[in-house]
Amino acid sequence: MKRVILIKYGELSTKKGNRNFFINTLYQNIKNKLKNFDISIYKDRSRMYIEFQDNDLELIKKKLDCVFGIHMYHIAYIVDTNIDSIKTLLVRLIQDLSFKTFKVETKRSDKSFPIHSQEMNHLLGGVVLKNKNHVSVDVHHPELFIKLEIREAHSYIYFNAYTGAGGYPIGTQPKGLLMLSGGIDSPVSGYLVMKRGVPIDCVYFEAIPHTSLDARNKVIQLSKRLAKYTTEVHLHIVNFTPIQEEIYKHCHPSYCITIMRRMMYRIMEKLADKYHGFAIVNGESVGQVASQTLTSMRVINEVTNMPVLRPLACFDKLEIIDLAKKIDTYNISILPYEDCCTVFVPKHPVINPSLEQAKKEEGKFDFLPMLDTAVETVDTVVVVDEEKEFSNLL
Ligand code: ATP
Ligand code: MG
Repeated sequence: MKRVILIKYGELSTKKGNRNFFINTLYQNIKNKLKNFDISIYKDRSRMYIEFQDNDLELIKKKLDCVFGIHMYHIAYIVDTNIDSIKTLLVRLIQDLSFKTFKVETKRSDKSFPIHSQEMNHLLGGVVLKNKNHVSVDVHHPELFIKLEIREAHSYIYFNAYTGAGGYPIGTQPKGLLMLSGGIDSPVSGYLVMKRGVPIDCVYFEAIPHTSLDARNKVIQLSKRLAKYTTEVHLHIVNFTPIQEEIYKHCHPSYCITIMRRMMYRIMEKLADKYHGFAIVNGESVGQVASQTLTSMRVINEVTNMPVLRPLACFDKLEIIDLAKKIDTYNISILPYEDCCTVFVPKHPVINPSLEQAKKEEGKFDFLPMLDTAVETVDTVVVVDEEKEFSNLL
């Protein structure tokens, strides 16, 4: 009995004009994700089908659970679209299943098939009752759902349903640049934005020797977790030390974080030009810390015209932590290494900074050439969704 994985697209179906683009992107993403398996994939307008080797099924399911754009999937038995074959297969399949109540649900996508869905439900229900002892139909709370999809060449019978990752396939939007710190929030932001179809590069601002190589490693490990949802992630590491030291030498302590973040945003904009990013993405959440009040955000955001996506803007910390646990980044994020923001944090950062004062503070040193140097000297680590990394740093 041959099985296939039957994939449903979900939200894609609302994208009328772009439908083929979405489906083709999903198709390519699944192919890349499963490139190490002996599989074949084919697709039509509403379904994708994967033929697989039985031994690989559990591993393949694990990979598929991280592919955005999959709404739901089923492990389905495939059969020719004719009534006798369908009946014969169903009789064989129910022999191995233990259940007391059941319901048949037919979806007749091939409208040329002569028996309508309701009739088919009755007909197959009769087949089950005749061939299995001590079972009855329960249309409200059946123990076993028997689903049949009638399509042109083949039909599919299945009893299970697995929830997919949802969202849109990565690559249906242009790239975003994620500011990835070692904290809890930014990896979750990366996950959420990828779920909308946005591929990401990550950017980490490093302040060695004030921060350690362990801190860098933590960010690499976080990128690796994000790479699970795609195939590889480019992590750009910015040497932020000279800029940070200048800020702390020249600016009033209460404005240091504001100025530091204005510098980060400026560098992000330049990196977006360099790496073809269309948006800056970060883990800011309204009110979380002094630099994330709306007043602060306005003053910090003033240095760029790029869209700044803040997927967590309105999340509570506890909600963020739940998501971080779900995507398996939480345990890495809570490792205790210092980040450049925490090393230099002043006692009393300004909560309601003024733009005028911020400009005055940063005017105390010549930062423009330093921004260019920071961009020119970026190191990039390619983090892949496998055991090995390629890097000039490791
Ligand atoms: P997280 O917000 O990820 O828990 P955090 O709390 O240390 O880390 P915040 O001070 O809240 O960071 O900074 C807000 C956002 O700014 C982060 O979510 C992240 O997107 C970005 N950010 C902060 N520090 C860095 C850094 N060293 N490198 C890259 N991005 C950073
Ligand atoms: Mg934070």
